[in-house]
Amino acid sequence: MTAIWLYAIITPFGSVRLKSVKNVLKERKVFVVIQVGAEEHELPFDLVYFRKNLMLSTVKMWTLIGCSVNILLTYVHFYVFFYQRFLAPNLKHKGRRAVNFGYMVDSHEDIAWNVIALGRDFTVRVSEWQEEASLTAKAGQRLLSIADLLEAQVRLIIGTIFVLPEKAARSNWNEGLIHYRNEAEAYAQGQEQLDYYHALAARDERVQLIQSAAELDNFIASMDSQPAKLGLIISMEGADPITEPEQLSEWVGRGLRLIGPAWKGTRYCGGTGEPGPLTPAGYKLLAEMERLGVILDVSHMAEESFYQSLEAYKGTVIASHSNCRHYVNTDRQLSDDMIKQLLARDAVIGTVLYNRFLTGGTEANLGDVIKHMSHICELAGHTRSIAIGSDYDGGFGVETIPQPMQKVGDLYMLAEALMQHGFSEADVNNIFHANWVRILRQGLVKIQN
Ligand SMILES: [Zn+2]
Repeated sequence: MTAIWLYAIITPFGSVRLKSVKNVLKERKVFVVIQVGAEEHELPFDLVYFRKNLMLSTVKMWTLIGCSVNILLTYVHFYVFFYQRFLAPNLKHKGRRAVNFGYMVDSHEDIAWNVIALGRDFTVRVSEWQEEASLTAKAGQRLLSIADLLEAQVRLIIGTIFVLPEKAARSNWNEGLIHYRNEAEAYAQGQEQLDYYHALAARDERVQLIQSAAELDNFIASMDSQPAKLGLIISMEGADPITEPEQLSEWVGRGLRLIGPAWKGTRYCGGTGEPGPLTPAGYKLLAEMERLGVILDVSHMAEESFYQSLEAYKGTVIASHSNCRHYVNTDRQLSDDMIKQLLARDAVIGTVLYNRFLTGGTEANLGDVIKHMSHICELAGHTRSIAIGSDYDGGFGVETIPQPMQKVGDLYMLAEALMQHGFSEADVNNIFHANWVRILRQGLVKIQN
């Protein structure tokens, strides 16, 4: 009998196990039902009876009870470890469905740049990728691939054509990367990236190029069909590849749908770190963009160019990836007045998930993302103007994104954090996809081809 008791205490999952505890009030006794193989034994759990039957001294009995409690606590620790290591990640994954954001639209990903300049293959999963130290070490561990995006429920992205000017290639950060020294090289490199997007969509059935409002509507209507597809709209960050404004129709004919005239300063306008106005060519480019129905992306525009552009251009405006100067006071972010000007145009502003643009330092967390989003919502009085322009893999990697996110599949954490900060599920839906879809549809409707 002693052996059964001891075995029952230390092997709750074995062939001998504690099955239940019966509290028989009438007899003022507690019975413990123990299963030994197929048989059940009912043992009285009266301490005096227990002690007598086991012929234990009181000290020995309490030692036995103490040991049992210790063993029990070990099991609890073991379970907690297992829960955190193996079960909790799965539960978190389920959280994606707990906050139903439907799907996600990301307005800024430098896919072609990553493929052509950094040699990263967009079709290879991040987990299967070995970064080569030579070109990508400074950019950190990559985040984006088709499979990773689809798994994260990111179903529509704006992919950029971005080419690097020689002045930026001299910096330590960009040293050794492909860059352009003149208009012809900018054009050729920009065309190569455009070719890449077309080739990608042609050879990979998971990628679908979206060039019109009708195509956008069809894509969204068939979002539940399998295999899941990644919609891709092509934009340009820094307009130097467009040799002259008259050339824009050629680019639009090949699928270019949004233009951010600036990165640093370009031949069209002042940009980040290079203040300046719109140039005469810049005014002409905006007129062509308006005529052809190309969406204006004001991210990176110098303040003077920004105000002149809003004055000159009457089409659809966005800021694909810009945070608030209210929190990080540099010219890369938007001042409150700039945000108000954008709100007056019913624009959408994508929050950049890059620590330096969230806090000004190397560390940031989801609360910082929400601060920037909330600030714009407070200025707007609604949640229709804020969205996500992650800029993932925009020259920096997983090391620079807000904690605790570690991969693109962790974006659902932002949805959960927004809910915890008082945003409704409808707000989260606005932020994750509805705002981008609204403004993109509005802009793409005007495309004339
Ligand atoms: Zn950028």
